[in-house]
Amino acid sequence: MAKTKFADKLRNFFGIHKNRDEAFFEELSDLLIEGDLGARTVFELVDELEKTCRSQKIEGEREILLQLKSRLLDFVRATDLQPEPGKVNIYMVLGVNGVGKTTSVAKLAGFYRDGGQSSVIMAAADTFRAAAIEQLQLHGQRLDLRVVAHQHGADPSAVVFDAADAVSAKGGGLVLADTAGRLHNKENLVRELQKIDRVASSKADAGCYKKLLVIDGTTGQNGLRQAEVFHQAVGLDAVILTKYDSTAKGGIAAAIGKEFGIPVAFICFGEGYKDIRPFDADHYLDEFLGLD
Ligand code: GDP
Repeated sequence: MAKTKFADKLRNFFGIHKNRDEAFFEELSDLLIEGDLGARTVFELVDELEKTCRSQKIEGEREILLQLKSRLLDFVRATDLQPEPGKVNIYMVLGVNGVGKTTSVAKLAGFYRDGGQSSVIMAAADTFRAAAIEQLQLHGQRLDLRVVAHQHGADPSAVVFDAADAVSAKGGGLVLADTAGRLHNKENLVRELQKIDRVASSKADAGCYKKLLVIDGTTGQNGLRQAEVFHQAVGLDAVILTKYDSTAKGGIAAAIGKEFGIPVAFICFGEGYKDIRPFDADHYLDEFLGLD
């Protein structure tokens, strides 16, 4: 995937607007807000951009987009998640229903296994939905990887506990835990996640426990609210951005980076196991802005 739909919109916009007047910067702001960068971020960004373009007489499309990119690089951060060999690593995958959590757990499992990581185990810690357990087990069969699951309705922290023991018995490895995401029942969800969080913190080796929030690239600014709720509940280490293939937006990674300082670890662009790659801020912004 080289060029985003948002980049096409930008290209059209520059094709129509030849003058670099006030209206140009106002409409550029509207377009960036549509691209999900978040109103607050955009106003600050475009204000500075306008000043720089005027003072330095920058008028060309590419030059303006490069200015924009260099400012966005201040917010969009990447983080490289590498499980430590010989240790108990636990990655808890969080997010509201439908964002692509279970699929991302499976993709991550395949990614790390193919990268040479030993003992990758998926933990079905969304015990609230029977279908979620079955779905993860199916991924386990297809990927030929072990899934630790308890019965529907069981205590999710016990699932994580057992999965951690299983990798520990193998002399270390990686647990990828799928979790529940029923945000409409927020208090219960937060309590449940905090319990899993305590168990995972105690079972993982120091520095080997990570909390990853899955954000659906098509959901818009709602993603900011989701990041806020999960960040407050357990503290997030990184974001996984999904459905980048089906969004005409995609700027949410920048908005989350600006508001909460959370980096992005992976980007997903399809339903297949291989449709995931480690996030690269430079590459992402080039695609987003159509600079590649
Ligand atoms: P969960 O409820 O958060 O566990 O979400 P699921 O993993 O069940 O995914 C919800 C739907 O989104 C499924 O149909 C997935 O195949 C689809 N999905 C997940 N990730 C991606 C992605 O990166 N791109 C696309 N196009 N679809 C995705």
